[in-house]
Amino acid sequence: MARSPDVAVVGGGIVGLAAAAALTRRGADVVVLDRGQPGAGQSAGIARGFRHLHATPPQIAAAARARAGWDAWSQRAGEPLLGKEGALRLGGDVAADAQRLRIAGIAAEVLKRAGERMPALAPDAGPLLWDPRGGAIRARRAIAWLCRELGDRVRRADVRAVAPGRLETAGGPLSCGHVVLCAGAGTERLWPHVAMRRVVHLRVTFACDSPAAAWADRSGRFGALTYGVADGPGRFALGLAELDAQPAASDPRAGAVPEGVDLGAVRERVHAYAASAFPRLGEPVDEVVRLLTVIPGDDEDAYVLDRGAGLTVLCGHNLFKLAPVLGEALADAVSAGARRSWKRAGATPPRAR
Ligand SMILES: Cc1cc2nc3c(=O)[nH]c(=O)nc-3n(C[C@H](O)[C@H](O)[C@H](O)COP(=O)(O)OP(=O)(O)OC[C@H]3O[C@@H](n4cnc5c(N)ncnc54)[C@H](O)[C@@H]3O)c2cc1C
Repeated sequence: MARSPDVAVVGGGIVGLAAAAALTRRGADVVVLDRGQPGAGQSAGIARGFRHLHATPPQIAAAARARAGWDAWSQRAGEPLLGKEGALRLGGDVAADAQRLRIAGIAAEVLKRAGERMPALAPDAGPLLWDPRGGAIRARRAIAWLCRELGDRVRRADVRAVAPGRLETAGGPLSCGHVVLCAGAGTERLWPHVAMRRVVHLRVTFACDSPAAAWADRSGRFGALTYGVADGPGRFALGLAELDAQPAASDPRAGAVPEGVDLGAVRERVHAYAASAFPRLGEPVDEVVRLLTVIPGDDEDAYVLDRGAGLTVLCGHNLFKLAPVLGEALADAVSAGARRSWKRAGATPPRAR
């Protein structure tokens, strides 16, 4: 690996690709290194849910910026990357939540019943928070579009060690102006200063012959806390993340679902939940098991962005929906520390350190 780029991004999931796209647009010479197929880690799959409701006003504001970012990406991609399904939420103080969104300038309503927005839902499930600008992110299309944008900047390489301005790959060392580390479940192995937990996630897709909004149930009323999203025409996926799985972060297999994990009880709970909360769903048609990384604590949307000289790290959970904003935040962090000018026309001048 002889070339010395301005920025080397480790991890070609949605976050690394978004950061690389933002940096490239600012004129930086970027490479993205992934040990496998880009988008095959936690970012894999057809769809992700987008919602505006988050725990704090700054997070809600970030979600609103991300929504605008998805519109801009869709325009550049020439196809919608975020659908118009809307998002529904059951549980919590929905009136207060709707008010919090409206204060932030985001359309929101309290519904007694979901009605035509989600005919498969139990008719007595309510009240619900309706977020009309939420919906299903076309995750696979977004990854494919970003990869097309980045072209041969995306490379296959197993990164074995990172340091400010330098990394070691299986093919040799690479020096660069700045390393951006967003290796998902592989992050801790390369940068043990960040504490993450790993949770095994089971998602079951059911046949669904009616419109389906992005779904979040925080009520416990139907026996589980779930999320759901239409992951293709005629399909609705329901997910549960319940099984802690904590391999040693240094284990090269720490990024994968541990062998022998028993999903039987979780599967039963998803099926029982679907039967009571969504009695009009059809048969299960698909199942996905993945490892999620989460930051310990109560906030399901927490992430850590850690910037040092020559190295910036980002990891967390539920990052997909925020990808356009996270990409820009990483590009800001890198340009703030850039020591040399990026050459291409249109580059943002690096700020003083
Ligand atoms: C089933 C499921 C449902 C989800 N639902 C939602 C949702 O509805 N809404 C939402 O916003 N989020 C959701 N999430 C979470 C969201 O998908 C993740 O937070 C996001 O995809 C993380 O992206 P990432 O780029 O940080 O990590 P990843 O996509 O995991 O990318 C990390 C990349 O780094 C690479 N890598 C790791 N180690 C190395 C190494 N040593 N050398 C080189 N490359 C390396 C990996 O191969 C991988 O491609 C869901 C996740 C799952 C699994």
